[in-house]
Amino acid sequence: MPAMPTPLYTAEQIRTRVAELATSLATRFPTDETPHFVAVLNGSFMFLADLVRAMTRPVTIDFVRMASYGSATTTSGTPRLVHGPNSDLRDRHVVIVEDIVDTGLTLHKLREHLLAAQPRTLDTVVLLDKPARRRATVPVDLVGFRIPDRFVVGYGLDCDGAHRHLPYLGIVEAS
Ligand code: 5GP
Repeated sequence: MPAMPTPLYTAEQIRTRVAELATSLATRFPTDETPHFVAVLNGSFMFLADLVRAMTRPVTIDFVRMASYGSATTTSGTPRLVHGPNSDLRDRHVVIVEDIVDTGLTLHKLREHLLAAQPRTLDTVVLLDKPARRRATVPVDLVGFRIPDRFVVGYGLDCDGAHRHLPYLGIVEAS
């Protein structure tokens, strides 16, 4: 059994913040248009599920997967798009839904791919922002929580497959 993470944000704190993000997002686009959420697997699945349920308007959803982190708590180099998107982004109001932006390299690469598909707008919402290790300048429109340079798990984020199911966010020591 892996050691339990040190709590960082409770499920209640996350729920409150996600509702605020949903409210901000809902007012960002014309009411007669449906924003298209592109969520980055695997870490953003819980965030996405709560975010769309907190939205007061319809959205459409697609998923992408980037390969960047291996099994450790440090980056393994250049991120690649390995799955998706499986939808036509042209002329859509696309919103990237990401769990965490750390160096920014993953988001930078993903934005390049999605911009090539010519969306009308491309926004990004991240649950967590770790500005300390940023290496690429990427626009992030909405941030749930700005956090220090620690390895975070829970609420969809894992460490070697562990802790992803937890309803709260916590810190584990890097291995
Ligand atoms: P970046 O390319 O911005 O360095 O990293 C983005 C990806 O790295 C995230 O989508 C996430 O999968 C992973 N990552 C970065 N920091 C953490 C962290 O503290 N915890 C977990 N579980 N994953 C992280």
